[in-house]
Amino acid sequence: MQRRRFLFWVSLGMFQVGEALRINALDRLAAATLGSGQVAADPETDSDDEPEAEEEEDEGEPGSPDPKRRARHGRPPSRWLRSLKADELRIWLKTIDPPEAGVSGMTYWTHLTRDHSFDADKLTGLTVAEQAQLHAAAHDGY
Ligand SMILES: [Zn+2]
Repeated sequence: MQRRRFLFWVSLGMFQVGEALRINALDRLAAATLGSGQVAADPETDSDDEPEAEEEEDEGEPGSPDPKRRARHGRPPSRWLRSLKADELRIWLKTIDPPEAGVSGMTYWTHLTRDHSFDADKLTGLTVAEQAQLHAAAHDGY
């Protein structure tokens, strides 16, 4: 648990630096640090050829959420965000203040897991208010 918490803070730092410097690979690396996604040795990181077809993401304004992710309404949000567990999400959510993004006809839980690619196991324990905040973060491009 201590190790996981340490890795969480390390990955949080990576994610924020990656956002600030527009380093696409850092989102992947931050996710990999927490044990999901591919490892750092991603072909995309050392190639200046055309972008990978895989998953077009990242290219944020310095220090802000990614306009591309925001443009597609956080579907999906960053890999890093999806790699966090509930207790880590709870910590991170307190550091941001995204504009509200409501859902209709279903719960946040259903929408987050069905449409925003979140893993249900990782959301277990979040309150409805926290789910709403996470949903707002996804729509804001995190
Ligand atoms: Zn949504």
